[in-house]
Amino acid sequence: MSGSFCESYEVDYQALINTIQEKNASTVFIQAPDGLKKLYKCIGEHIIDKLPSIKIYYSASPSFGACDIPLEEIEAVKPDLVIHIGHNKYPFLSREINYDIIYLPAYYKWKPTNDIINMLINELKKYNAEKIGLVTSIQHVHSLKEIAEKLGEHGYIAYIGKPTYNVMMPGQILGCEYSAALKIYSKVDAYLVVAGGIFHALGLSLIVDKPVLILDPYRLQVTYPSSDIKRLKAKRYYILSKLRNEVIRNVGVIIGSRPGQYRPTLIKYIENLLGEHGIKYYLFTSTYLSREQLISIDNAYNLDLYVITSCPRLPIDDFNDFYKPVITPGELVMILKNIMEKYVYPW
Ligand code: SF4
Repeated sequence: MSGSFCESYEVDYQALINTIQEKNASTVFIQAPDGLKKLYKCIGEHIIDKLPSIKIYYSASPSFGACDIPLEEIEAVKPDLVIHIGHNKYPFLSREINYDIIYLPAYYKWKPTNDIINMLINELKKYNAEKIGLVTSIQHVHSLKEIAEKLGEHGYIAYIGKPTYNVMMPGQILGCEYSAALKIYSKVDAYLVVAGGIFHALGLSLIVDKPVLILDPYRLQVTYPSSDIKRLKAKRYYILSKLRNEVIRNVGVIIGSRPGQYRPTLIKYIENLLGEHGIKYYLFTSTYLSREQLISIDNAYNLDLYVITSCPRLPIDDFNDFYKPVITPGELVMILKNIMEKYVYPW
């Protein structure tokens, strides 16, 4: 096993080898998000080193989370064991995965230095924040305790919330699941999201009206993306207010096919809601919804709007500037039930 990328992540190789042996697996299928695909090499080498006769399939497809297990690829090669790298189990899996599967998180190895804590404190001072809610993506959950302790040494109080779903770890959030943050809402003045990029912070900002700072462990930066947040909120409310003043005649409901992105109860709820309002709807299935696919559907049907039930980040991140309104289930509820004061996310 070599390479600095692999060395910068902690992966439980022993648990992996133990599981392969327990399951008596001779073929395995490995899936990782694009950002972690470099781990394929070291994980593959490690498996072959310990168990030379194992046959390994590596998924070349993108992966956006543990919601996104590629059943059709797995069905094709029929492995004895599926190895999902980078996430723990998705809390809303609705399709049966009839294969043994091990979720193998990859924890980024880093320690919060005094420099980054000082940067953080300088930012917190700008917002008079003394009580901070710490949340993170799975890659950095191990750093929360140390950040909390270091903040404590400077007189700050840090809170780490427990998510509603037991499969998730303390302080962990997903792009579609923020219960760890919401549970400590009344106690904190601001949130700190420990994660690379602004994806998780943007999602959280939609549902809390407190500053959401980011500590990026890769760039070693602390930022408050307030203009991105304002722009996103303004755009979403613009789309919703416009829709509220228009007559909605027909809607396209997009249904995801991946095990965690197929949401039958939610789809039924949306069908009923649209039916109650006399709105005609069409159901479309998709694995990954691209702009080209949605343009083809719109060219064929010319619908008033599209509701995406698979990943609620698609309307916000990928279709925010689409020429037709593309909204989340929560936003549909806001429009049809006329509850505009509180942003409903994700459903
Ligand atoms: S935000 Fe989307 S990609 Fe991320 S876990 Fe939720 S459904 Fe999956």
